[in-house]
Amino acid sequence: MAEHKTKCLIIGSGPAGYTAAIYTSRANLSPILYEGMQPGGQLTTTTEVENFPGYPDGVTGPQLMEDLKKQAERFGADLRYGAVTAVDFSKRPFSATIDNGDTVTADSVIIATGASARYLGLPDEEKYNGIGVSACATCDGFFYRGKTVAVVGGGDTACEEALYLSTLAKKVFLIVRKAALRASKVMQQRVLQKENITVLFNCNTVGLFGDEFLEGAKLVENKGTEMEQVFDIAIDGFFLAIGHTPNTEVFKPYIKLDDAGFIVTENGTTQTSVEGIFAAGDVADPRYRQAISAAGSGCRAAIDAERFLLENS
Ligand code: NDP
Repeated sequence: MAEHKTKCLIIGSGPAGYTAAIYTSRANLSPILYEGMQPGGQLTTTTEVENFPGYPDGVTGPQLMEDLKKQAERFGADLRYGAVTAVDFSKRPFSATIDNGDTVTADSVIIATGASARYLGLPDEEKYNGIGVSACATCDGFFYRGKTVAVVGGGDTACEEALYLSTLAKKVFLIVRKAALRASKVMQQRVLQKENITVLFNCNTVGLFGDEFLEGAKLVENKGTEMEQVFDIAIDGFFLAIGHTPNTEVFKPYIKLDDAGFIVTENGTTQTSVEGIFAAGDVADPRYRQAISAAGSGCRAAIDAERFLLENS
């Protein structure tokens, strides 16, 4: 169990974390970055990213993260495999415990832990997790080639996942709880035009069934109305795409969070409720949640940390 010291500890390795690492290492802060349970973050489970400036032909999520990581390494950022399991932000220097037992003391901290996929909360989701239920089409879609799958959600993620799965699976149901998709118009059009995607509007999933593996889902249409009806669809895979929960559990005792658990930042900066602790990316962004906005806030957090250290050294 080793003890490490740094001027700037960065927790998390999505576009926000890596961008913060690029900026803080170029500012000679010798940052240490812990990559967390999913090095590279959510984008490593995405296929094509078409809207990150600088890639006119698009880029895959994993490639984009690899590029950001290399750029951070080029300037000497110390990128480490490992997750932060506990923190003490009650006094300076701050401290963090890593899952291998190491501790890090830091003069400033940038939290960039992102957000994790949400589930509906059905007991059946747990029962079939890994044998039919998934929250990542890119990771698991391959197993459903030629089969029938369902995606739950009406946002851009759900549309993206449905489109991706439609290239592998025989048939895709998109289960949408309202009468309309929330996704951007261009995504809606692509989904609605795709022959092997059927959108089931006004439908909620109430159960999953199957003997050894998942065989189907029980849905309720027009719940609570006169037209309410319950029916089953036969599916081999059930993919959740209903949004994300911020990864803030470990910081809860010290940092001010909003009702949904996102970190609250102050006055248009990345400053959290604790001076010297900054937040960047999806962990503090319930609104935009884009790779480019996460990267931008990683830059802002690095500059905020640098100024804080200048004023407090
Ligand atoms: P969103 O919050 O945009 O959408 C979540 C969807 O899940 C909504 O349709 C919501 O329904 C539905 N939902 C939530 N809870 C439940 C539930 N319990 N049961 C059934 N359905 C539920 O999340 P996304 O992950 O889709 O997108 C997040 C952000 O990332 C957005 O800003 C999006 O634009 C962006 N994004 C952009 C992409 C791109 O540009 N390529 C790709 C992916 C995401 P309802 O509409 O009824 O509230």
